[in-house]
Amino acid sequence: MVVTVASGKGGTGKTLVATGLADVLSGEAGSNVQLVDCDVEEPNAHLFLRPQLHRSEEVTHPVPQVDLTQCTFCGRCAQVCEFHAIAVLSGKVMVFTEMCHGCGSCARQCPEGAITEVPELLGHLEFGRAGAIAFAHGRLEVGQALATPVIRQLKARALPRAASTAMSILDAPPGNACSVVETLRGSDYAILVTEPTPFGLHDLKLAVELARDALGLPVGVIINRDGMGDAGVESFCAAAGVPVLTRLPFDRRVARAYSEGQLWTRVLPEYRSQMLEVARAVRSLTEATS
Ligand code: SF4
Ligand code: SF4
Repeated sequence: MVVTVASGKGGTGKTLVATGLADVLSGEAGSNVQLVDCDVEEPNAHLFLRPQLHRSEEVTHPVPQVDLTQCTFCGRCAQVCEFHAIAVLSGKVMVFTEMCHGCGSCARQCPEGAITEVPELLGHLEFGRAGAIAFAHGRLEVGQALATPVIRQLKARALPRAASTAMSILDAPPGNACSVVETLRGSDYAILVTEPTPFGLHDLKLAVELARDALGLPVGVIINRDGMGDAGVESFCAAAGVPVLTRLPFDRRVARAYSEGQLWTRVLPEYRSQMLEVARAVRSLTEATS
């Protein structure tokens, strides 16, 4: 099964939960678990799992290259580009590759056949193992803005393993943008990590709207740093029918382990059974809704 760990904003403990879950599941006898870090703009799960990476792949997409000797500067390519990634000036065709989505419309519509598509590097995928955990992450190339094709390719390459894993855990990018939609799409369950503050509640509502209401996924909430804020998140979850999977207390030892790049479920084994309970709850809730 594929479980995405997401949060409406960064810094709520999404990677903490994703790596902790992967770690405790990997400790179960015969368990086969996978962690895929889809936060391709700022991947950091590897800092805690420290995988041995053994394979790397490039992610490219096709961008137009114009042969000015064939171009008549008719402007058709600029008209058909929905993303304003190509502009035709007198005697000049400018391609803004950072805005190009590689759709190929301009090349297909050019009446002179003056456009060819050439691959441009968007990012890299890396695959490896951290003990019993199969690991994969993506990394967006510096200067590139298109995270979704990198995430799409990462999932296409990594998730065929999901059928043979006890759980494939996707660590989503923070927020509610297209890259989060791309990560969530096709998941069996979404764990939404939040904190019990008004900001946490605001972002949680958006995350529930996206994952449950728009994408139709079963969702559950983990309240991180429980005890430091107010009861707004609890009240919302009760009213919205969203199960609270667990509450992780505000514990400076967890924060210290995280800031030192240590796997908190190893440093603080008293949390292992709590995270295993989360995994069991997710499994039974997923089965109940499938
Ligand atoms: S559509 Fe083709 S011929 Fe027309 S401006 Fe674009 S590249 Fe040139
Ligand atoms: S490939 Fe698509 S997005 Fe890119 S410049 Fe051509 S029409 Fe625009």
